Amino acid sequence: MATAKTVPGRCEHCGAMFEVPAETIGLETQCPHCRRQTEVLLAVGVVDGAASRKAMIWAVVGVLVLAALLAAGFFALHMARRLKEKRSMPRQGVELRWIRSQG
Ligand SMILES: [Zn+2]
Repeated sequence: MATAKTVPGRCEHCGAMFEVPAETIGLETQCPHCRRQTEVLLAVGVVDGAASRKAMIWAVVGVLVLAALLAAGFFALHMARRLKEKRSMPRQGVELRWIRSQG
């Protein structure tokens, strides 16, 4: 094919970028930079994949932090409510004992 489309390739050993025909992606070739046999990796795909994976990890971390803060907020609210209930409990307890001692 004379009009083969070239794509940015990357050497798996030295990471050097070079133009390769699209159909050679995944094939073994000699790196023009380090002269070692390398599998031609699609440079754009690799970079994008790493970037989106990093972005996804940060998104997950963000969601987890938000969830933790939300859980902490609910827990604090719950504890405050329980504390309020506990404060009003002694009076009820006294009343119950008083009722029991009558019977
Ligand atoms: Zn190389």
